[in-house]
Amino acid sequence: MNIILLGPPGAGKGTQAKFLEDTFKIIQLSTGDMLRAAVKSGSELGKQAKEIMEAGKLVPDDLVINLISERIDQPDAKNGYILDGFPRTVPQAEALDTMLSQKGQKLDHVIEMKVVDDVLVERICGRYSCAKCGAGYHDSFQKPKVAGVCDGCGGTEFKRRADDNAETVKTRLAQYHAQTAPILPYYQGKGILKSVDGMADIAVVTRQLEAVLRA
Ligand code: ADP
Ligand code: ADP
Ligand code: ZN
Repeated sequence: MNIILLGPPGAGKGTQAKFLEDTFKIIQLSTGDMLRAAVKSGSELGKQAKEIMEAGKLVPDDLVINLISERIDQPDAKNGYILDGFPRTVPQAEALDTMLSQKGQKLDHVIEMKVVDDVLVERICGRYSCAKCGAGYHDSFQKPKVAGVCDGCGGTEFKRRADDNAETVKTRLAQYHAQTAPILPYYQGKGILKSVDGMADIAVVTRQLEAVLRA
């Protein structure tokens, strides 16, 4: 099963992808995570992407298209994948279609996670993750069971993203509305778009997603 989780920054795509990975035995492919890894490694791609990401703008289409195309050829993606943060522009969505038909694959579901902008700002500004295993948390909405200790791995170091600040968030939301939201009618036209209420509690959103994917 190959799916896209579509939604603005902070909608809960990464959080939900982690649950769906286990339930459906498919892997999360986050272009944001891949790009952050490239920035950290100092690769040529990372150098090209760093400033653009820090400013909250989108990196050029061809860079992310190549990244995804290579990634879905890896053996661990064979069972299926959850695209998180890709496609983000109509040209990326079109390139994905071409790429998948060349690889003999298809999309099974595109699910929009709907959340209003004010809530997104709150979610993004409170977001942090475990430095060791990457598990995601939130200052108010998703705290570790024991304060300061990661539920998943017991790690005690946490990190915040350079672009998760009130100022950059505005740019990222503007980019979403201008560049990414036009993808919605694209998939609606193909009849594979569904949506869930991303404003609900994390566990409720998970149940909604599972219902869509099992239907
Ligand atoms: P995205 O991957 O779409 O950018 P995340 O999954 O990283 O979003 O979620 C953004 C932040 O909001 C995280 O700190 C996460 O813990 C929190 N969060 C995710 N889903 C919900 C929800 N349904 N209700 C409240 N907070 C949430
Ligand atoms: P979020 O879900 O919080 O918006 P991501 O981790 O998906 O964050 O993306 C972080 C940044 O990485 C984006 O603001 C953008 O600069 C870059 N990026 C990620 N995916 C794409 C993509 N498909 N196209 C262009 N830029 C991307
Ligand atoms: Zn951890």
